[in-house]
Amino acid sequence: MPLNACNHPLVQLAPEEAELLARVRQLVAGQIGPDAARVAREDVFAWETFRLLCAEGVVATAFPREYGGTDASMLLRVRIIEELASACSTSASLITGTDLSSRPILAGGSESLKRELVPDLANGTQQAAFALTEPGAGSDVARLAARYAPADGGVIINGRKKFITRASVADVFVVVAREDAGPEGSKGLSAFVVPRAAPGVTVSADIPKLGWHGVPIAMVDFENVHVPRGALLGREGEGMRLAQDTLLRARIGHAAIALGRACGALLIASQYANQRKVFGQSVGSHQGIQWMVAQMAARIEAARCLVYSTAQRYDRGDADVAAHASVAKMHVTDLCMNIVVDCLQLLGGNGYLKAYPLERFLRDAKMNQIGEGTSEIHKTLIGRYVLGMAAQMPQHPCLDFEPDLHCHD
Ligand SMILES: Cc1cc2nc3c(=O)[nH]c(=O)nc-3n(C[C@H](O)[C@H](O)[C@H](O)COP(=O)(O)OP(=O)(O)OC[C@H]3O[C@@H](n4cnc5c(N)ncnc54)[C@H](O)[C@@H]3O)c2cc1C
Repeated sequence: MPLNACNHPLVQLAPEEAELLARVRQLVAGQIGPDAARVAREDVFAWETFRLLCAEGVVATAFPREYGGTDASMLLRVRIIEELASACSTSASLITGTDLSSRPILAGGSESLKRELVPDLANGTQQAAFALTEPGAGSDVARLAARYAPADGGVIINGRKKFITRASVADVFVVVAREDAGPEGSKGLSAFVVPRAAPGVTVSADIPKLGWHGVPIAMVDFENVHVPRGALLGREGEGMRLAQDTLLRARIGHAAIALGRACGALLIASQYANQRKVFGQSVGSHQGIQWMVAQMAARIEAARCLVYSTAQRYDRGDADVAAHASVAKMHVTDLCMNIVVDCLQLLGGNGYLKAYPLERFLRDAKMNQIGEGTSEIHKTLIGRYVLGMAAQMPQHPCLDFEPDLHCHD
């Protein structure tokens, strides 16, 4: 049932995978959960949590074995992310954020670049940040304006990136920029690895935000930054392809975070409702409350099946996994927002207090509807996909475009 994902029929894990997941549950119960409010309150990069997740081999799940990782399946990763997010969005986003920032390097880096960089990313001694969004290009990344031009055996990059998670702690940036004299739109985009220490890179102070604390964001400026040819990821013009490949994984990660948080919120609200007395009875003994809980439970369980099956499609390499990832991201992040609001309501006035966890859950939930494609963008993608698919399918056997209008049957 929704409060406990253990032994879910869609999740078959090898013994060592089950062991890692059990360890994550233990960490959530013993350290990460109890520490989550402090981490969020302090709102500086959550080094302690990050180092713990590195030491326990959780960060390494995003990386192939040949570069020091453990090559975890997406299914195992969503289970881990779900467990972390049931108590602490920060720790879950440390896992998804590592993936977001490292994936383009893994997918497009030269062998020598990967050998040099990835083992340190896998063990957490270095960090990367993914710099795609700009002040003038968020949802519409094909219009981004950062530019690069050939110079001295490499390229010179100029531009400003906005909302960059971990910018304040990153050692390297993956920067997507447009070829100066190249085509407009997504075809002109390429991705580069840029060391933070390169002359011309400036990172702003952390930018205050509503929630998602412990993983700060900042603005990053690139002014005549020179990188060698070997910093190019993939081939020239493949920046959008690499970004899409990265965002696909990140979208599944957002859905898993939202699932975990919804599940955690329902557990908190149900335990509160069992304990809190109103009119001489527990809150949970009122039928209206039971119906709310029942609806939330049913929706979470359906969302869980959606997230797990999307992860399985990813692991299988299904051609249409991007559409499924959009469905999971849109549906589960929107659901999580609604569930957290309802769960907070079940705590009455206490739900609104900082001393109780659901106000933090509520602030964090909003982010999942925005990052890696807003809900509106995913609706657009899914709508087009479904209509396109319908156009390819045989006509429905009951649909007649010129029916007999006088027929009663
Ligand atoms: C905490 C946080 C962390 C982030 N981390 C990173 C990071 O590490 N790296 C990075 O590159 N980016 C990052 N981002 C950026 C994030 O991906 C963008 O904010 C997001 O893609 C939305 O872009 P935007 O903010 O420019 O909104 P806009 O694109 O300006 O959209 C504004 C509104 O218009 C709606 N809209 C846009 N187009 C359409 C349309 N066609 N139809 C209907 N509605 C539409 C949107 O849904 C939204 O509601 C982060 C953002 C936040 C808040």
